[in-house]
Amino acid sequence: MGEWKSTAEVAIIGGGIMGASTAYHLARRGCTDVVILERDLLAQASTGLSAGGIRQQFSHPANIRLSQEAVRVFERFEEEFGVNVEFRQVGYLFLAQSEEVWQEFLTNVEVQRRLNVPAEALTPDEIKHRWPYLNVEDLRGGTFCAEDGYADPYMAAMGLANTARRLGARIEEQTKVTGIQIEGGQVRGVETTRGPIAARVVVIVTGAWGREVAQMAGFDLPVLPYRRQVFMTKGFDPIPKPVPMILDIEPAFYFRGEGPGLLMGMSDQEELPSFNTNVDYSFLERVIEAAVRRAPILEGAEILRGWGGLYDITPDDNPIIGPLPRVEGLYCAIGFSGHGFQQGPTVGRVLAELILDGQTDFDLSPFAHDRFDHLQGKGETRVV
Ligand SMILES: Cc1cc2nc3c(=O)[nH]c(=O)nc-3n(C[C@H](O)[C@H](O)[C@H](O)COP(=O)(O)OP(=O)(O)OC[C@H]3O[C@@H](n4cnc5c(N)ncnc54)[C@H](O)[C@@H]3O)c2cc1C
Repeated sequence: MGEWKSTAEVAIIGGGIMGASTAYHLARRGCTDVVILERDLLAQASTGLSAGGIRQQFSHPANIRLSQEAVRVFERFEEEFGVNVEFRQVGYLFLAQSEEVWQEFLTNVEVQRRLNVPAEALTPDEIKHRWPYLNVEDLRGGTFCAEDGYADPYMAAMGLANTARRLGARIEEQTKVTGIQIEGGQVRGVETTRGPIAARVVVIVTGAWGREVAQMAGFDLPVLPYRRQVFMTKGFDPIPKPVPMILDIEPAFYFRGEGPGLLMGMSDQEELPSFNTNVDYSFLERVIEAAVRRAPILEGAEILRGWGGLYDITPDDNPIIGPLPRVEGLYCAIGFSGHGFQQGPTVGRVLAELILDGQTDFDLSPFAHDRFDHLQGKGETRVV
């Protein structure tokens, strides 16, 4: 730990992909008196535990745009940040079983294509032809985008954080924020376990802990933590590589290639919100059932290990991004509902613009903090 400095222009609470990206974008624009305050170590919470998926196939145009810009960043990440995040554009394949979901997929593809996402709708026969190991008997169809893929989320966050640090930003790990100081409708700074920091701008990017940190400033935002489990198999040759990210959206099951093996995960729709991240091996049985139903050959795969992490979920599965009302200088970006890793690069850019210019070209209205009392239509439907 370096020397403690008790002032900063901008104090960023949370050292995941959102905090790292925001610090980077601020520093890149010359605002270098920035500090990231991270309770533990950088990128070890949801960011480091995520499946690393990067896709442009969303239902909501705002999510498509966030990810579209991020895909371009991931494509040239090494050039800009000097780190190889192993971005593999092996595609994302979404599968629909029911007519209702299939019709939604077809509508989504039209929206995606209007925004220049090269997504295609596939019949079950076309799916079987390209991925013969999949059982397509119960499918109505699927959608595929070859530009989608996955990257190493830990390396990506560290690449952004280290570049921010090189540009002058400070990073204080093992520093928990315990209070947000507000006076006369203006943010004054934060209190931490290592002392106070005076700052005129405070950014809350604490993921699953977004609600409790926003409460420090008097806001009750509807962001709840939910455990999500991921399992990795031992090397598994019977399925030819590369294996795209394959999402069976109705059972909320997915798998993709990971080194010589496979990585698979599933959302337990019945699980209540909590901060529990233990691995539940009885749940693994249900994951394997879903896996074998979709790809019977997976019966022969052996599980190597599993881990649990937290999604930060809002009522419409869309994040809350932007300034908070009545308190000058307070911003947040939380509630990414399972797709925040990939959106980090764009969200950091947008937050830096809001902070430095007071505006951004990105339409944040779908992500407004006060939308929940009058939610109209669906939020994001492509969630797993
Ligand atoms: C199993 C799993 C799979 C996922 N798969 C994908 C995927 O394929 N693609 C995708 O895009 N997203 C995925 N996600 C979601 C993604 O991981 C998150 O949306 C994203 O990492 C959120 O980043 P963040 O910076 O907001 O949060 P985090 O990475 O959780 O960072 C928040 C940080 O705030 C810190 N903090 C909390 N309270 C305080 C405090 N009081 N003081 C100081 N620091 C504090 C925490 O320690 C933490 O490090 C997945 C998540 C999980 C759990």
